[in-house]
Amino acid sequence: MKEISCKLLVIGAGPGGYVCAIRAGQLGVDAVIVEAGKPGGTCLNVGCIPSKALIHAAEEFEKIAHIAGGKDPLGIKVAAPTLDLARTVAWKDGIVSRLNSGVAGLLKKAKVKIVQGWATFRDGKTVEVETETGTQVIRAETVVIATGSAPVELPFLPFGGPVISSTEALALSEAPKKLAVVGGGYIGLELGMAFAKMGSKVTVVEALPRVLAQYDAELTRPVLKRLGELGVEVMTGAKAKGLSTKGDALLVETADGKNPKIATDKILVTVGRKPLTEGWGLEQIDLDRAEKFIRIDDQCRTSMRGIYAIGDVTGEPMLAHRAMAQGEMVAEIVAGHKRSWDKRAIPAICFTDPELVTAGLSPEEAKALAGEIKIGQFPFAANGRAMTKQREDGFVRVVARADNHLVLGIQAVGQGVSELSAAFGLALEMGARLEDIAGTIHAHPTQGEGFQEAALKALGHALHI
Ligand code: FAD
Repeated sequence: MKEISCKLLVIGAGPGGYVCAIRAGQLGVDAVIVEAGKPGGTCLNVGCIPSKALIHAAEEFEKIAHIAGGKDPLGIKVAAPTLDLARTVAWKDGIVSRLNSGVAGLLKKAKVKIVQGWATFRDGKTVEVETETGTQVIRAETVVIATGSAPVELPFLPFGGPVISSTEALALSEAPKKLAVVGGGYIGLELGMAFAKMGSKVTVVEALPRVLAQYDAELTRPVLKRLGELGVEVMTGAKAKGLSTKGDALLVETADGKNPKIATDKILVTVGRKPLTEGWGLEQIDLDRAEKFIRIDDQCRTSMRGIYAIGDVTGEPMLAHRAMAQGEMVAEIVAGHKRSWDKRAIPAICFTDPELVTAGLSPEEAKALAGEIKIGQFPFAANGRAMTKQREDGFVRVVARADNHLVLGIQAVGQGVSELSAAFGLALEMGARLEDIAGTIHAHPTQGEGFQEAALKALGHALHI
């Protein structure tokens, strides 16, 4: 049995863990990272990157199919396209593999030791790792838990056969003819829409009265319209109940007590993700929990001195950039820096068609906090760039305090608005007022002008509406 000691041990090399280890290494902290799978975690291997690759391929395919249909006014003529999904998946795997090597290279450059294997706690400062060459014991002054999350399985629809999670959905070699998606959250709708574009007949089954229930109804309206255009059937207030005996239909119970069967080839279950807190000796150290997650304070400290936790294992919002921000902060704290972070400025993106972006507070939350608020909303139907891209659906909305015009929240829905999230985050992070956004010269013609116009609208003098 080999033993090593280090200043910092990071468990899990997802976006939280690898960023933490790289930053620690840059600061001269002697760091070791343990990873059971491939560097990059859920995000890089079976999450953000592969899903966006598939979404891009589906968008391109649908665009060409639409033009081939002869109804597009651009004057382009093409023959009907075909899709070799196995090749698409191989291309996606190539991107993942390049980024895997990139992360490993960055860890090496920062002089972080990588140990490959499954880590188990012996006590709060010691873990055992089963590596290919035997058991490795690692003692550390400080430990960062960054073990991430896994898809939630429904007991009456266990994964296997036709029932798949997002992980398997990203590796299919053929688009299923019929696909039922259980759970109308962001992962279900991103993937459901992608498969609809690739030709699958998609049905979304959602127990709540609305899909994308965390967003306000006005924001999701353009997405619902597009779902309709793509022929996606959305059943809300409907509960999935199980699989038919032959395995070729999803059993559902609707709000009015009916029990329809949805004929389907695959059932994609996307009902949430659970933190990975079991199977690796966490019970040995008995950390405080906040429901199923590890409880942390504002600087990611757990209830045990010298143990931090970051990323999905600590709760919502389960987003890669939140995990990275926490990882960077913890590395700097371990290196002796004073650090804190502003959680209010974490943007969230739903890569549906059109995309949704939220940063800061919703109008309701802002009203509850500030009392009187000002709201400015600018539709892409009045934006020249959106017209030239044939995508006039959606809008940008800015929410600010009425008394001093401090911007509290920004929301947008529209094709390509994910790229505006950086500007939204910056505005919130820097404590922008409506006048700051309105007074910033935005290049023309861009969708970003919608952001400026929304601020102008809140001030009562929009120029282009
Ligand atoms: P993870 O990325 O889950 O990494 C944890 C790592 O720890 C894993 O590699 C695991 O193998 C390792 N590990 C666990 N236990 C042990 C152990 N005992 N020993 C050794 N190693 C261990 N987020 C976004 O921000 N944008 C998106 O567009 C987005 N799209 C997504 C799409 C899908 C389909 C999915 C599933 C997720 C998506 N997410 C997205 C969420 C994002 O992937 C997660 O929020 C992010 O990966 C969390 O990072 P993490 O570092 O906390 O954990």
